[in-house]
Amino acid sequence: MISRKNVCVIGAGVSGLAAAKAFTARGHDVTIVERSVDLGGVWEPARSYPDVQTQSPKELYRYTDKAMPDHYPEWPKGPQVHAYLADYAKSHDLIRLMRLNTTVLAMQRRSDGKPGWSLDLKTGDRTRREDFDFVAVCTGQFNEPQTLSLGGEDQFAAAGGLILHSSKYNDAALTKGRDVVVLGGSKSATDIAVNAVRSGARSVTIVLREAVWRIPYFIGGLINFKRILYIRAQEQMFPSWGMGPLSRLAHLLAKPLVWANWRGLESLLKMQLKLAKCNMVPKGRIEDGVNCSVPIATPDFFPMVADGRIKAVYGTFGHYEPNTIVTSGGERIPADVAILAIGYKLGVPFLSDADRARLVDPDGQYRLYRLIANPDLPDMGFVGFNSSFCTVLCADMAANWLVRYADKQLAHQPSEREMRDNIEMMLHFKRIERPAAGVYGGLCVAPYHFKHFDELLADIGAQRRRRNPLAEMFTPPDADAYNDFLASAPAYQAG
Ligand SMILES: Cc1cc2nc3c(=O)[nH]c(=O)nc-3n(C[C@H](O)[C@H](O)[C@H](O)COP(=O)(O)OP(=O)(O)OC[C@H]3O[C@@H](n4cnc5c(N)ncnc54)[C@H](O)[C@@H]3O)c2cc1C
Repeated sequence: MISRKNVCVIGAGVSGLAAAKAFTARGHDVTIVERSVDLGGVWEPARSYPDVQTQSPKELYRYTDKAMPDHYPEWPKGPQVHAYLADYAKSHDLIRLMRLNTTVLAMQRRSDGKPGWSLDLKTGDRTRREDFDFVAVCTGQFNEPQTLSLGGEDQFAAAGGLILHSSKYNDAALTKGRDVVVLGGSKSATDIAVNAVRSGARSVTIVLREAVWRIPYFIGGLINFKRILYIRAQEQMFPSWGMGPLSRLAHLLAKPLVWANWRGLESLLKMQLKLAKCNMVPKGRIEDGVNCSVPIATPDFFPMVADGRIKAVYGTFGHYEPNTIVTSGGERIPADVAILAIGYKLGVPFLSDADRARLVDPDGQYRLYRLIANPDLPDMGFVGFNSSFCTVLCADMAANWLVRYADKQLAHQPSEREMRDNIEMMLHFKRIERPAAGVYGGLCVAPYHFKHFDELLADIGAQRRRRNPLAEMFTPPDADAYNDFLASAPAYQAG
């Protein structure tokens, strides 16, 4: 008999909803604790910048058991994603489980000797301690904005200047008629620069460290990038972890072809995006940088750089002066509004120092088996820490794995020893064999979606029925098929 657990899900974003659904479906009692006023996480309207849309096509940015509405475009806008998440929560009756405006301040092992954790929860001015048998941490990677403090900020502000993190840019009127400078080279940075031009900014400058490869929504202007970058055939061009001698030999033999494939893609991108004219030809090889940080090219960004509507400056901010930003290279840029698209701090701040040291190595790499569980942090798991280009699907798969792990119902329930050995092997892969896999604390499955999903399905005991092995090599992950695979695993209920 599997005991019914009192489960706390921390966070009501994409991942929290997946976790809450997976645990309630197995009969557990779930409480979702969310510090914000609404569900949605990064897609909560108050946190979204104008014109935000997904990078992932809609059939890849969805739960296995619910497609996005037919009328949604291929790349849905922020409010549409939020509506989809709200609908998902409603259809699985998750809203009643939510405690909004409630922040987890700290968690420690239960003092009553039972398995589980005691959480310090703050709602308004009230703080209380509550015990749970199991905790699913679903707090995402985009929650604590990075900060940057530089000389001259006060004088800049006194002259009417405004400095804000990209997550606070949610009103395009802020840029109208003003000199706008965006710091950063991510998709958010280029989205905001383009939005500022469209909103009537007087001038727009983007300050970035280096040019990086950006993938257009349609490669060559014709082919949806999902048909090239999300397919198993492409994934297999990357040497992965745990390869046997035969696979290594196959990679060695295919090396010239694979090399030619990447050079061809680079040439196409240079031509299509007019990278030379924009002075934005990246220095590195495209295959060395494929991970979760590869941005999709914001439509119109390169044309706007090419015709001067957006000025690109290499470097970073040095200091502020009244109405001016001086870059690290000494360039003076007129500025009324500085938007810092500098990302977020990764972390789980409510863990104790000792538990955090169990979870994260000194070099920032996370110690998570399958990017979900840590053998030294029992009765706890992480959903959405396996981020990717199709994070909803990843979170859904992780949630299905986690509930079975918590209930000891995985077909292959790993021993602590196995988990530790696997973690060490993966850390070696990320540190030595493929450093690009070490970005974001090693919490990125791209470009290895299929391999990651194969591992989770095998652990779960799901049948991956191949429909047409050849077609499967050349099609992106199919969320409906994953729904069927998950349904093939042995059913059970706690209680
Ligand atoms: C602009 C933007 C566009 C993106 N586009 C894509 C895309 O196209 N494809 C893709 O795969 N990914 C995309 N991502 C990545 C995105 O983060 C994930 O897809 C996904 O939304 C993450 O969901 P999550 O639930 O894991 O985290 P979040 O959405 O960050 O949700 C975490 C929740 O936890 C809550 N929380 C945090 N700490 C606490 C605490 N101490 N107590 C209580 N609650 C807490 C937060 O308030 C938040 O609601 C995008 C991200 C951004 C910022």
